[in-house]
Amino acid sequence: MTQARRMTEALGRTEALGRTEALGMTTGMVYLVGAGPGDPGLLTLRGGELLVTCDAIVYDALANPALLALASVHERATPVELHDVGKRGGASESARQDEINALLVRLGKEGKRVVRLKGGDPLVFGRGSEEAQALAEAGVPFEIVPGVTAGIAAAAYAGIPVTHRGIATSVTFVTGHEDPAKDTTTVDWSALARAGGTIVLYMGVKTLPRIAAALVGGGMSPETPAAAVQWGTHPHQRTVTGTLSTLADVMEREGISAPVITIIGPVVALREEIGWFDRRPLFGKRIVVTRARSQAASLSERLRAAGAEVIEMPATQIEVADPGPLRSAIARRDEYGWIMFTSQNAVRIFWDALRAESLDARALARVKIGAVGPATAAALLDCGIAVDVSPDRFVAEALLDALRDRRDVRGVRVLYAAAQGARETLQDGLEELGAVVDRVELYRSVPDGAGSEELRARLLDGGADLVTFTSASSVKAFVAAVGDDAAVRVRAASIGPITSAAAREHGLEVAIEATESTIPGLVAAITAQFA
Ligand code: SAH
Repeated sequence: MTQARRMTEALGRTEALGRTEALGMTTGMVYLVGAGPGDPGLLTLRGGELLVTCDAIVYDALANPALLALASVHERATPVELHDVGKRGGASESARQDEINALLVRLGKEGKRVVRLKGGDPLVFGRGSEEAQALAEAGVPFEIVPGVTAGIAAAAYAGIPVTHRGIATSVTFVTGHEDPAKDTTTVDWSALARAGGTIVLYMGVKTLPRIAAALVGGGMSPETPAAAVQWGTHPHQRTVTGTLSTLADVMEREGISAPVITIIGPVVALREEIGWFDRRPLFGKRIVVTRARSQAASLSERLRAAGAEVIEMPATQIEVADPGPLRSAIARRDEYGWIMFTSQNAVRIFWDALRAESLDARALARVKIGAVGPATAAALLDCGIAVDVSPDRFVAEALLDALRDRRDVRGVRVLYAAAQGARETLQDGLEELGAVVDRVELYRSVPDGAGSEELRARLLDGGADLVTFTSASSVKAFVAAVGDDAAVRVRAASIGPITSAAAREHGLEVAIEATESTIPGLVAAITAQFA
């Protein structure tokens, strides 16, 4: 979901564009959209625009759920209509295709803007052209949005270029669906064997031994390098290599099953040099992110960029408290010498309250501002407010240390924009320094627990390498959501000593603790551990 949101934000012009298009439109329209090979980042901008603005989506098995989530990131007057046509059922392939064609024609005739989402490119072994034929015949207008095909993308993510100067000057995409041992085959394997370029095989897991034999029979060297890429571009991508004569056995031994792209040709050797995707520090690691939905993005994205598969389970969500006390504190703002912020949430809620009174940063011109960490300070700066003190470590104690030597704290009234249930450290410390503290509680973290059943099952199954915690409250909510027995099955990575203590208290093993208590600091500590 967060990834989807990031994508639409990147799209920017999306919504406006979809609306204008919709305005000029009286009849329906079917878009045959390539979803790309799996990594949601490989969807085209055009595909993203259409997903966000369409009325209906017709999708099948290879469509990434993250892309479907895109369809609902913006509020819509009517929810998008979803049609899953991926269920195999009892029907034959061709009967199924007829049904899909009929569905597209019907939706188009109803005047809807329909996205027909297809894995990879819609016209590469995707039957998209058959759907276009059916639409053309029925007089339903359509548009074709190409996608990144698995044959190129899976190879690229395995560090294999399908062409390379001096090594391969042509590439053939070929289906392995047809058994070369049968007379019905329309593929001229011996011609391909002589062509000398790269062969990229789709749907060829079961037929590979016979295809390899046909190629060798046609004169290709059995020593030709070959690779199989399973679930290309997905976080759990697997690649095995061998030669034309050994690859099928290697795949069998390693349990590589569909979906697989097989690449045959000398370019495969380049993987040694330019392999990258599966060499990133967190590749193959499953990491649970427990931050509240509204805050998970920066942590999840950083972990993904380092190669991890991220499971988002928002342990907590933010519940804004009764605005009364904050409103009256804002009215009395000139009585305060300081306002202290300890989280971005507090900044956001404070700012919203300020704006609700038609005030802005100028209202705080005479007040000094303290923040516990750099992310909180950055959130303040986004509102045009620079902090007056920033501690070198990001815990309340360090903020207090930074205030200790100042003369403008003793006897001064301080507004502490707090979270309900937050530690007393800052308040007590300020009082010790002689300040008069008004603690106003702006919000509280309440358990969210979305997806916790599924995660519980996964944890019990040993299905995660690490769970990340960025606050003591998220530890508590996580344990409550998945259960003690499941929680202790996964090792913890914590943002700092307070959070670690909370995790240990719940019986979790804290394998990693950030030296710098920030999100980048946490990611750096995790990466260092696995490197
Ligand atoms: N239109 C799709 C291909 C559909 S045929 C495209 O352009 O990519 C289905 C076959 O595509 C699968 O059997 C497999 O060979 C290949 N495939 C699709 N996605 C894949 C992926 N992520 N990794 C490896 N192979 C994939």
